[in-house]
Amino acid sequence: MKAEFISLDERFTIAGDEYLERLYDAGRWLEGPVYVPAWRSLVFSDIPNDRMLRWDEQSGQVSVFREPSGNVNGNTLDTQGRLISCSQGNRSVVRTEHDGSLATLASHLDGRRLNSPNDVVVKRDGSIWFTDPPYGITSNYEGRRAEQEIDGCHVYRISPGGELRVVADDFLRPNGLAFSRDETQLYVVDTPGKHIRRFDVKDDGLTGGDVFAPCTAEMFDGIRLDAEGRVWAATHEGLHVFDPDGTLLGKLLLPDLVSNLCFGGPKRNRLFVTATTSVWSWMLTTDGARPPYDLG
Ligand code: MG
Repeated sequence: MKAEFISLDERFTIAGDEYLERLYDAGRWLEGPVYVPAWRSLVFSDIPNDRMLRWDEQSGQVSVFREPSGNVNGNTLDTQGRLISCSQGNRSVVRTEHDGSLATLASHLDGRRLNSPNDVVVKRDGSIWFTDPPYGITSNYEGRRAEQEIDGCHVYRISPGGELRVVADDFLRPNGLAFSRDETQLYVVDTPGKHIRRFDVKDDGLTGGDVFAPCTAEMFDGIRLDAEGRVWAATHEGLHVFDPDGTLLGKLLLPDLVSNLCFGGPKRNRLFVTATTSVWSWMLTTDGARPPYDLG
């Protein structure tokens, strides 16, 4: 499909190839794309179908990675390249160990079950930050219908030692999140608030949290940063790209609701987008931000 990139600012005029590739089109609601360099693969989630899929960059084949998945939504890699996943169905954050076993990293706060972890990022100190809206417990579609046990939808941090703590408690439905390049700031989407907020990261907590950018196409979901610090955000009309000063620089229009994105490929210059039933790929003229694991 011909890429429809609309530049709205002269600072960001060329974003990628002339054409977008559709890598997969048989999902129900795709989410959580993460590029795993060691596997030369993209792992992504199909939440209602309760499975995770894997697109092999070398063969172009898509196969089932894990089924059932516990309705996994967001995925990322930690500092050792291990897969960290938000399980909406099991209301937990889990890590896939190097031997393939699963370790639960967070499931309860003070004896009460989390709502349904949605998206997750890892800081270079090894701490894990995630959001906990209720989308996995409001119906059986994306998880399992259940009572909300925690009063509110918060942003959490798991310390390198495994301690779980609330770091922001004034969200309606926190969703996608991403650190700035130097990790001094954390961007967090509030989906029904229709905006992205930006916090200052102070040691193991957050301060500030003013609105960074409003959404002009219904609502935001996942976000990622590129190597220049620009914020790429999933919306209902495609991706919106923001300068760190908050200016909307451009839009990549897509035919379906977009849920999330990631940068990948060996050079991190390939964009992967999950959009309703499809995964799209676009070769870029920019690179994704440095991941938390060591690139060597
Ligand atoms: Mg999300």
